[in-house]
Amino acid sequence: MILFLAMAPGIAGERFEAGTFIIVYDTKSGAPVSMPLELYVERALAAEAPASYHLEALKAQATAARTRAIAGRCARYPQANVCTDYTCCQAYLDDAAQRVKWGLSYPLFRAKLERAVVDTAGLIIAYDDKPILVLYHAISGGRTEDVELVYSEPLPYLRGVDSPGEESASKYKGRVSISRDEFVKVINKAFPSAGLASASLESQVDILKRSASNRVLDARLGGANADGRKLRGLFGLNSANFTIAFSGGEVVFDTIGHGHGVGMSQAGAEAMARGGADYLQILTHYYTGVAIMDY
Ligand SMILES: [Zn+2]
Repeated sequence: MILFLAMAPGIAGERFEAGTFIIVYDTKSGAPVSMPLELYVERALAAEAPASYHLEALKAQATAARTRAIAGRCARYPQANVCTDYTCCQAYLDDAAQRVKWGLSYPLFRAKLERAVVDTAGLIIAYDDKPILVLYHAISGGRTEDVELVYSEPLPYLRGVDSPGEESASKYKGRVSISRDEFVKVINKAFPSAGLASASLESQVDILKRSASNRVLDARLGGANADGRKLRGLFGLNSANFTIAFSGGEVVFDTIGHGHGVGMSQAGAEAMARGGADYLQILTHYYTGVAIMDY
């Protein structure tokens, strides 16, 4: 099966010669490349998941990466199935980049990732027999988020679920501190009706509403309001699950979790795998009502 008939220069399939080919837009070289789907999955897996993870967590991530690759087209480069920019599609590491990243562990990690890909070859996550919109993130902070609270459209398989056991993940907790003056400058620029003053932040700033996962849905900023997602972007916070405190001349955000919080939590998947769950249990936990099937 060839998903796209568009012509693109091919590359050798290395260990994944047979099967479906896809078009990957390589943002480094600025060109579309035709390659075996399973080779792409291995390279996305190398970039998106810590190779030290349990094999079942890596198999869950491989299935998610494959689903993303065949589900549609890249929004930025529609001549391709996916691109290699993680802000658009999925991150990507070719063989040379994998060697640099892993150093002496390369043979071990490479073999482990290949096993995760081969063990799940051809499998995708589907809802109503169609590939799902795959979203995942690093650390949920204990519970994932309903998709419509982060993006616009509700989807039946992207519902908030509990995600225990993540506390040992690095970056589970984070902190961003900025001066009161900088905070006021950023907020008043983004929200001209806010009218914040450095000396009055304690009375002007308040968190009014949180989601079931503790992410901020509504914060009062003087005469303006904002959700946690907006504040996360403005101040580079790891998560929209945060507290705001005023300490001397500083504004301190303490965060829990890392990423948007929708879909599979990679740290939660790792915790489930270490607790004995297999990749099917992991995927059906984080994606409500889905089936794992051949594409
Ligand atoms: Zn893309």
